Amino acid sequence: MRSLSNYGSRSSKTFKPKKNIPEGTHQYDLMKHAAATLGSGNLRLAVMLPEGEDLNEWVAVNTVDFFNQINMLYGTITEFCTEESCSIMSAGPKYEYHWADGHTVKKPIKCSAPKYIDYLMTWVQDQLDDETLFPSKIGVPFPKNFLSIAKTILKRLFRVYAHIYHQHFSEVVQLGEEAHLNTSFKHFIFFVQVSKHFAKKHLIL
Ligand SMILES: [Zn+2]
Repeated sequence: MRSLSNYGSRSSKTFKPKKNIPEGTHQYDLMKHAAATLGSGNLRLAVMLPEGEDLNEWVAVNTVDFFNQINMLYGTITEFCTEESCSIMSAGPKYEYHWADGHTVKKPIKCSAPKYIDYLMTWVQDQLDDETLFPSKIGVPFPKNFLSIAKTILKRLFRVYAHIYHQHFSEVVQLGEEAHLNTSFKHFIFFVQVSKHFAKKHLIL
């Protein structure tokens, strides 16, 4: 079967452990649905909220999937993203990121890209594993501000794509992973656009 988190990529190395959605849950069925739609190759269709489904749940399932995709994409280039090659976390000459999560790290930390991405992915992992933010059990409601939490996660995950594109594209090409990266990024951008649209329509954000 074609996996949602792996567009036929040969690589199976991940940076952090893959986040799994428990089998038997509605979110698992949604994930399967997303994978099947994605398999049809129509990315615009694949990001649409399926009829009758809850927006929060749809965003949750897709956020987990993007974490897994980026985890794998970054996992394939970690050997090139080092303290020496990437002493600052940048995305081209104009953007330099300093890490802060707004809670435990309030004062932004200036650090290398591998450190920054480690902080970022660990932070996302913690959010995804927090049952009060990402409930996986049936009947447990999502927090009222769920979409804004997801928005922050997606905004931060975007920086990893940005860093890979700006600093590691030639290595991605060498590894033959550029089609995988491009499809994943396109899927991500379409998803962010369509969720903004749905959130506005439902007057949630
Ligand atoms: Zn790097």
